[in-house]
Amino acid sequence: MTRQSFVRTVCPPEGRLHDLVRSGSVAPLATPTRTPLVCDIDRCNGDLWITRTRSGVEMSWQCDRCHRRGWISDWRQTSSDLSAFRSERDLPPSHSLVVTRREHWALRRLCFVSGECQKMICQGTPACSRVTLHGSKTHFEELGESILAEVWLVGPIREPLLSSVYRKVCEELGTTPGRLQHIPTAEI
Ligand SMILES: [Zn+2]
Repeated sequence: MTRQSFVRTVCPPEGRLHDLVRSGSVAPLATPTRTPLVCDIDRCNGDLWITRTRSGVEMSWQCDRCHRRGWISDWRQTSSDLSAFRSERDLPPSHSLVVTRREHWALRRLCFVSGECQKMICQGTPACSRVTLHGSKTHFEELGESILAEVWLVGPIREPLLSSVYRKVCEELGTTPGRLQHIPTAEI
């Protein structure tokens, strides 16, 4: 078992620790919660579960396939702590969206996205190779706008994944997709 202090660990924004803390910070206290994250150690691909201690100070994670596990402390009030963002602005989730695990990975890497949208992404419900997001119309509209703002910048790996999610968001909301093609340099 590993013990890691979040603030004392060199943690690039794309790191697994960042993802674990974001999911853990919005998980219920003292309840093992299956996250949308898969174990990437030795291509294990098991599901990662997270449990916040009853005090909420530490969180533990565990893979349900290879059974590796660890503890994370000092995550409170870091940029990965989403616990302060209120869920759905107190509105019940009215929409849901099913994305692939790869699409979910691309969503987790979005930069121009509100804390509330990050929370919706990190609270996604995993099932086999899919993750279901639950949110209000407002949050899915925000998510669509965030994707449109960033899809130009993300490179050839994430671009098709985010474009696919964007089309699904528009389909779910019944809106017409905005422009996704790259803007020629002369127009910028
Ligand atoms: Zn594993």
